[in-house]
Amino acid sequence: MSRVLVIGCGGVASVAVKKCCQVSEFFPELCIASKTLSKCEALAKSLEGKTKTKITTAQVNADNFDELVWLIRSYKPDLVMHLALPYQNLTIMEACLACGVHYMDTANYEPENTDDPRWRAVYEKRCKGAGFSAYFDYSWQWAYREKFENAGLTALLGCGFDPGVTQAYCAYAKKHEFDTIDTIDILDCNGGDHGYPFATNFNPEINLREVSAPGSYWENGHWVEVPAMSIKREYDFDEVGRKDMYLLHHEEIESLALNIPEVKRIRFFMTFSQSYLTHMKCLENVGMLSTTPILFEGREIVPIKFLKALLPDPASLGPRTRGKTNIGCIFTGKKDGKYKTYYIYNVCDHQECYKEVGSQAVSYTTGVPAMCGALMLLTGKWNKSGVHTVEEFDPDPFLDALDKYGLPRRENLNPVLVE
Ligand code: NDP
Repeated sequence: MSRVLVIGCGGVASVAVKKCCQVSEFFPELCIASKTLSKCEALAKSLEGKTKTKITTAQVNADNFDELVWLIRSYKPDLVMHLALPYQNLTIMEACLACGVHYMDTANYEPENTDDPRWRAVYEKRCKGAGFSAYFDYSWQWAYREKFENAGLTALLGCGFDPGVTQAYCAYAKKHEFDTIDTIDILDCNGGDHGYPFATNFNPEINLREVSAPGSYWENGHWVEVPAMSIKREYDFDEVGRKDMYLLHHEEIESLALNIPEVKRIRFFMTFSQSYLTHMKCLENVGMLSTTPILFEGREIVPIKFLKALLPDPASLGPRTRGKTNIGCIFTGKKDGKYKTYYIYNVCDHQECYKEVGSQAVSYTTGVPAMCGALMLLTGKWNKSGVHTVEEFDPDPFLDALDKYGLPRRENLNPVLVE
């Protein structure tokens, strides 16, 4: 019997909880805890009579270590699924260590306050040392490796689609398709249309921070950083069609460079429409993407938080979004001394997701891997103490679970490569 504590009750958590409740035999008891209790109660109510999973709810401020420890000690979960925001990663990891519970999340740590001088000092040193300037990186969470290992606990980092499934695709390619991998291109295409002039598909604050940052890629053992959106390619995606995509910095590049050390180049591309980019540039130019508080009519406000309040809630996009996502990895490398290429990807339909769980495909493609990752930990299929990213585990049972629970893989041995 396992008990799971889910922290957060937004777009991704709603999908993960609903998917867990479809397989009650693995998730017999689940507690949904978030900042706003009424949202947890509404989600629990929507599942009443539809699942055998026993659901309870709780209010928690996950920035507060003591509140977390109190909740974890009273609920006694086997696993904490952290599906709130990356700002809380370290506090929740600390609480899991204090209580002896396994941990997982879907995005790597970044600070809410990027002006905090203590964080800034470490950040600026890392920018110079590592050579990329995104606000997020793995070092903060990797610093807990020894503590988790000594406690016999697992922290599974970044178990959404990207990061997450993309790394399982890399582990699968390494295990079954290649002796050595030379290049990895991760392609994230969202061909969905929600009809709004501008909206983000997951938390706007985190999303806009990510896509407005300089791009970077890994080449021959070091980072190459380029201005945001300065590398553009066009690609013809299966079931979506031709789209413009742009090179971004992305968290899984960092762990893949470490765990598949022979790789010569790793790049990440995401599709954006011209209209999205024009809106984002305009918002950036007028200061709306800033994370530094300003004084407005006697009150301090953070521009990007104010913008978040104005933009459509990503969870509300479900009924309006039509079209498909296509996310995957293209590899080049060698097998048995011969050059080969390989593409593994998933296509997901926004409206199909909405019919099944009431959410659009971006929440779905993150929530389903989170559920499948939890399944791997709870069933002991992934059983390695310490702090680990997805490519460090056996990809086979995870990809089988994704095939079964809504995100089946597709393969192509002769893909068009990205120049
Ligand atoms: P949402 O903004 O929809 O949900 C965030 C949830 O966290 C809300 O329920 C919010 O509560 C809750 N929350 C925020 N702060 C706290 C706090 N201090 N204590 C407790 N709860 C809190 O975000 P998404 O669901 O879109 O994204 C969730 C996570 O998934 C993010 O970390 C995001 O980066 C990641 N993600 C990962 C992807 C991947 O492929 N790996 C893709 C997409 C997202 P309230 O509503 O009350 O404020």
